[in-house]
Amino acid sequence: MKLLKDKIVKDGKVLSNQVLKVDSFLNHQIDPPLMQAVGEEFATRFKDAGITKILTIESSGIAPSMMAGLILGVPVIFARKRKSLTLVDHLYTASVHSFTKNETNDISVSKDFITAQDTVLLIDDFLANGQAVLGLLDIIEQAGAKLAGVGIVIEKGFQPGGALIRERGIRVESLANIASLENGQVTFIEEETS
Ligand code: 5GP
Repeated sequence: MKLLKDKIVKDGKVLSNQVLKVDSFLNHQIDPPLMQAVGEEFATRFKDAGITKILTIESSGIAPSMMAGLILGVPVIFARKRKSLTLVDHLYTASVHSFTKNETNDISVSKDFITAQDTVLLIDDFLANGQAVLGLLDIIEQAGAKLAGVGIVIEKGFQPGGALIRERGIRVESLANIASLENGQVTFIEEETS
């Protein structure tokens, strides 16, 4: 997605060979027109997938998910992050390890909001090692819901998450896929579509 890639080149900050900071348009300050374009792109790519719900994870997945949900006309659910959960009766829960922050959080979603009748699109801001997406997939499995696929704003294609998810036969659509952050430079893996 050209608009997003141009924004990453212009305003993204390469913190290291592994980490890209996008605090000025996605992770702290949010750029609404860009998020609208991102939502439209997800909606276009998944329009025939029969989606009934979008599932993401707080907080940075919420903005792109909201825009996609608005266009697809479906509710958006964000998994909540907690250090550890005690009262889990009416919740689906999964553990997510963050390599970036070196901590493990439980994520949870109320059983009220995803059921076996749902077809769910997962959306997240970044795909790196794939742990956040695996946690969300675990929750969809617990609910017995159908998975439509995974929409990612920025994939870091040089990290293992994308392969881990795709090798399960899951459709992953990344709007920008980064090949490398070496030498402070962002280079992209070219897309087949748009
Ligand atoms: P994963 O579980 O795929 O390793 O990482 C997913 C989560 O880690 C994302 O939701 C995002 O919050 C965070 N993350 C991973 N890599 C980066 C990065 O390079 N930049 C930013 N801003 N967040 C990242």
